[in-house]
Amino acid sequence: MVSSKQQQKSYDPDRAAWLASEIMRHKRLYYAGRPEISDIDYDKLEDELKLLAPNHPVLGIVGAVNIESANSKVTHDLPMLSLDKTYDVKDLLKWASGHEVMGTLKVDGTSMSLVYREGRFSLAKTRGDGRQGEDVTAKLKWVADAIPQIDVVESFEVRGELYCSESNFLSLAEEMQSLGLERPSSPRNIVAGILGRKVHGELARYFNFFAFDVIGLNSFKSEMEKIAWLDKNGFRLPEPRLLKKPSDLEAYLDHVKQKMEEDEIGCDGAVFSYNDLATHEELGATAHHPRYKLSFKWQGETARSKISKIEWATSRLGIVTPVAVIEPVELSGAKITNITLHNAAHVRAYNLKSGDFIELVRSGEVIPKFLSVVTSAVGHCDIPATCPSCRSTLISDDVRIKCMNHHGCPAQQAGVILNWIRAVNVEDLSEKRLQQMIDAGLVSSIPDLYKLSMEDLLTLPATKEKMAKKLFENIQSSKTAPLAMFLNGLGIEGAGQTTWEKLLEVFHSLEKIRKTAVEDIIAIDGFAEKSAQQIIEGLTRQSKLIDQLLVVGLTPEAPISHSDGPRPLDGMSFVITGALSRPRKEIEDLIKKAGGRMVSSVSKATSVLVTNETDSASSKMIKAKELGIKIWSEAELMNQV
Ligand SMILES: [Zn+2]
Repeated sequence: MVSSKQQQKSYDPDRAAWLASEIMRHKRLYYAGRPEISDIDYDKLEDELKLLAPNHPVLGIVGAVNIESANSKVTHDLPMLSLDKTYDVKDLLKWASGHEVMGTLKVDGTSMSLVYREGRFSLAKTRGDGRQGEDVTAKLKWVADAIPQIDVVESFEVRGELYCSESNFLSLAEEMQSLGLERPSSPRNIVAGILGRKVHGELARYFNFFAFDVIGLNSFKSEMEKIAWLDKNGFRLPEPRLLKKPSDLEAYLDHVKQKMEEDEIGCDGAVFSYNDLATHEELGATAHHPRYKLSFKWQGETARSKISKIEWATSRLGIVTPVAVIEPVELSGAKITNITLHNAAHVRAYNLKSGDFIELVRSGEVIPKFLSVVTSAVGHCDIPATCPSCRSTLISDDVRIKCMNHHGCPAQQAGVILNWIRAVNVEDLSEKRLQQMIDAGLVSSIPDLYKLSMEDLLTLPATKEKMAKKLFENIQSSKTAPLAMFLNGLGIEGAGQTTWEKLLEVFHSLEKIRKTAVEDIIAIDGFAEKSAQQIIEGLTRQSKLIDQLLVVGLTPEAPISHSDGPRPLDGMSFVITGALSRPRKEIEDLIKKAGGRMVSSVSKATSVLVTNETDSASSKMIKAKELGIKIWSEAELMNQV
């Protein structure tokens, strides 16, 4: 028998929610006469859920699903006041000055109060008008993370936000359609919609609950102590952080912005609260708002437009992604002509097609995004069955559709090469120019780039001697790209530039990194088994490509090992222009030996321009002055190396 303490530790709301969902799905299939699994496998699902959440309502359902519950009104013991809000960072910083503050995500859902009597979940109320809400207890029993197994016997109240994530929304929309219900319009509206329904309360299992407050227990001195208690008892939290100074607040707002870009949880700002609870007591509340909390939102602007058509494009990993081309519309000062629709399931869930009138939103500097359908055109969405690039049959991979023709698909090949060009920073080689090289049959893989001659480049459209020379030199100089950039260019899933840099601190050469095993990576702080496996698999898969790149002359420089100590020009990039006192090759070697890197043209990323002609009017000189890049004479360089 497992003790309650151990059970609590192993409680995983995601697992419970998944089990409940699977049980519901198999029940439906069974009663529809189309069972997918054996009775034994079905019982296993129920047994596991019984262990995780013995009171889960799915376990009480007998026969076909048909649950009915109407909501009655209930009063809040302590009113649920709304929060004062600001759109101005200056106001926020002024309000916060002199206080330690807790920040949390401001999630767009329905505010709830959950009452636990003697440690057991007993009542769930919506916020309603703040004084009186609706009793939605039966529906909240379906929300796995609203009822963790709590190891306390006191009575208390937890407040938080019930919301529907983007990915759950896609499954929910599908299930609602199969039940013959109306298609839900957005994750933002669906929570209130389901809570208000008389039947199909079980659809609330697609929701999540973020806890942000606990009331009725007197032992807390700060917001962070409350959060620690909620965390210990298994509640899911809206990414709380303790913020001690103004720069912490600004960094947190950046974090929130990033969450908004990800678009998985509908958040539109952040909520801040003074950490010290004695200050809460002292300040109290106005008739409408507590004085110790403030919510921050970005001024969001919305616009409406019509979808002209939906275009599908294949990425380097084979994922076929939809983009809506819309009638041009102004939004926060920018003209918007197209907007991403994320994935195939998204298009299906909203039944998106040309002629639909949609609403877009842009808040903060976040990229504009699709918000909802205003009026739907007649007909059904059209999800492609074949790859727009190579015409091979697409497979369905969770919410996405995928082209599996990894070696023969032109769009994937172009994507792979473009990813390399960006990773090793080949300047002046745009996507368009790459496409010209591919169309001309000059390039079909990364190593092909390094086999290009000046003559080859001169055959490209609108390419004169000067441009061809520049391209040739830029491609050649990327042969010495630092090892981390080289590895990043291989496009291995689960590892970006910073991941490689971190790995190279431990494994100092390409040779060593190729011999690394999963266990070696897990041993490094911050690496999980899954990403370690992805890295090793990726390296193995790209082994042939690495060899080919070495054959065509790439010499990815390894970072210096600690025993060598740092070098004077580590991490700096150099451009040389004009005549110097000794051969250019000699100067370049000195720079490289001192840890510097040669690049052929001046850009924002260039560290130093080396020249003896400081009053020259060469284009490199003009650009360096424009960009405020350091200019060294040969003598100054010699002092450094
Ligand atoms: Zn394809």
